Parts: sequence; C-alpha cells; structure tokens
Amino acid sequence: MKIDIVVVAAGKGTRFAGDKIFYEVFGRPLIFYTLANILRAHRFRKKILVLNESGIERAEKELVPHFPDLEIVKGGVERTHSVLNGVKRAESDFVLIHDGARPFVPQKVVKNVIKALVGWPAVTPAEPVRDTLKNFEGDFVFKSVPRSELKSIQTPQGFERELILETLEIAAEEGVVYTDETTLVEELKGIKTKFVEGSPLNFKVTFREDMELVERILMKNLRVGFGFDIHRFEEGRKMVLGGVELPLPYGLKGHSDGDAVTHAVIDALLGASGLGDIGEWFPDTDEKYKDIKSTVLLEKVAEEMTSKGFYPVNLDIVVVTEKPKIVQFKEEIVKNLGRILRMPSSKISLKGKTAEKMGFIGREEGLAVMATALVMEVANETS
Ligand code: MG
Repeated sequence: MKIDIVVVAAGKGTRFAGDKIFYEVFGRPLIFYTLANILRAHRFRKKILVLNESGIERAEKELVPHFPDLEIVKGGVERTHSVLNGVKRAESDFVLIHDGARPFVPQKVVKNVIKALVGWPAVTPAEPVRDTLKNFEGDFVFKSVPRSELKSIQTPQGFERELILETLEIAAEEGVVYTDETTLVEELKGIKTKFVEGSPLNFKVTFREDMELVERILMKNLRVGFGFDIHRFEEGRKMVLGGVELPLPYGLKGHSDGDAVTHAVIDALLGASGLGDIGEWFPDTDEKYKDIKSTVLLEKVAEEMTSKGFYPVNLDIVVVTEKPKIVQFKEEIVKNLGRILRMPSSKISLKGKTAEKMGFIGREEGLAVMATALVMEVANETS
C-alpha cells in the first residue's frame, strides 16, 4: 500500500511559549524524535515535513542528514495552509498527517490507521478520556460532561489523498478554522471519520511542562557501552586515528588500517546498542576487511544502529600513549568522528594519557584506546 506522510510542525506554539519543535532534549530537537518514530513505523513513499521558515535552515543541517529523503516544505499562515502545502507535495493514493509535537507514536497506532484506511477514506486514532471532564464558571464547577461519549483525538490521521487535498483547498479558500483534519472532512464533505485505537504514549507536547515527560521517557531509553582496543606500532605503516592520518614514519599494525580509536568507538557503540562486537561484524579472517579504512566500518555500524532506532548521544575517548602525542590532532579527529556519526563535535571528547613510562605503552611498543558511548534507543518497541 503506497502512502505518503506529512508531518506538520509549523504551529505557533502559543501555549508552549517558545519554539517547541526545536526544543532540545538530549542534544536533539523534539522534531527529531517525532521523525525517528513515525518514519520507522511504515515504509512511506514520500516523507514531507512542514516547517516555519525560521526552522528550515536548522532542519537542513540537523534533520536531513538523519532522514535523507525528507522533503521540507514551508508552512502557511494558518494550520490549513501549512497542511495544504504539505499535502500538495504528496503523490500516493493515501496520505497520513501527523503532528510534529507527538514524539512517541507507537508503531501499532500507525499500523491501526493504515489498516483501517484500506476500507474507509478518513481515519483517526483516538483515546478514551481518562479524567472526569467538567465545565467551569470562574473557579467553580458548572456542569459535568458525560465522559463515555467522548474521545481524545490523536494523529497520524489517514486520508485518501484526493479527498483531503480537495477539502483543504476549500477550507483555505473559505478561511475555516479547525484543530484537526478529520473535523474538516466531516464538516465540509459530510464524511464520518473512523476511529482506531490510539495510545497514551502518543501525547502531544503542548505546554512547557510536557517536556519533562519527554525527558523522562527518553531517559529510560539511554544505554551505555564501553569499547577497548590495543595495537602494536609498526614501521612504514600509516598512522590512522579516528580516520585522520597522522604524519609519522610508523603506524598501527592490524588486519584493517589499525585505527584503534575507531575500533574502540565501534565497540562502545555496538555494546550500548546490544548489537554484538567489532570481531563478529568484521572478522579479521575475512579478506574483505584487509587494510580497509576503519571509518568505513564505523559508517556501516552507524547505519545499522540508525535502522534499529539507536542514536549516539555522546562519546568519551581516552588514548593511552607515550607517543605520538595526540593533542594537536584532537580537533580534527573529533570533527571527523562527528561527521561520520552525524553528531555535533561538542558531544565527542578525546583525551590523551601517558602510561608514565610503564609497561608496553611506556616502552613505546604500541597504544591503547578506551571509549564510552551513551546511546539513545529512540524507538524501542517490538510491536
Ligand atoms: Mg583493533
């Protein structure tokens, strides 16, 4: 079933009092988590993100590297115009419209919507109302509202593309104000919306306090990993650390290029993600990996992690070495690792340490590297 997705993140955030879409949690903007979750839930054909003009440049820099086929579209004055701008770019028979401020949509909810969409042109996930609802007059209760007749509406909402496109065009022309697209389809087209089961996890970040919830949920998804590597020096080999070639007459012995920094980082990342270790992934008995650039292996690991919903939060690396001194190459190594792992250099730390002339490192026979990685499992459900 061919479906496009439009993620709408061009709101004013009035109730949040600030730019909630780019509000940073664990070094990444809120919208990053929304995209990571919704885009994993289905193989969407077109992936469209609607943003305010002010967010476009940041999105190109911080989101597109992670979600390469994301199309960024500028929003409009009202929600109608923003959603319309996004839906206009869609091409498939069906389109899902999702709030950018719902970072944790469970895959099951997306699947429920898609399944129902096969037989009905307008579908929304909904949740039972949990609290008792009352009307108010000043500080006093005016009247209770019978809860059993009510549901909370969520997204992604699913539509036949032509239906929602037509409806939005009418709404834009007539200046209809609304808060969700199913309302429009009901009011302008007289088509009832089918409900499917939503989830309490699929809440919408509305007030600033909601960010506390986002942080707590993500905290549960943090994993730490440790990596260690050790290589002997060898004359006449290239010295490569973190993918950077150091101008030296000797390098590190190894089946690959011997890049011990990259090897330790790979093991820390794999360990944190529960994905095994470097030896299992790239056995040194395999001719394929003879003299390979270790950063190519790191790229593969990064790809595999991403596809499973893991993203590095920060890295701390210690190189234990009498020689060479690494301080002058530090900046370049950090920058290179950041580029490969698509994380800011500020989240990577690299430290040099001597062995106080003791042992094999002290005798300048080789060097050792230790690395810890903090990894976020962004989408951590099996369903
Ligand atoms: Mg190694």
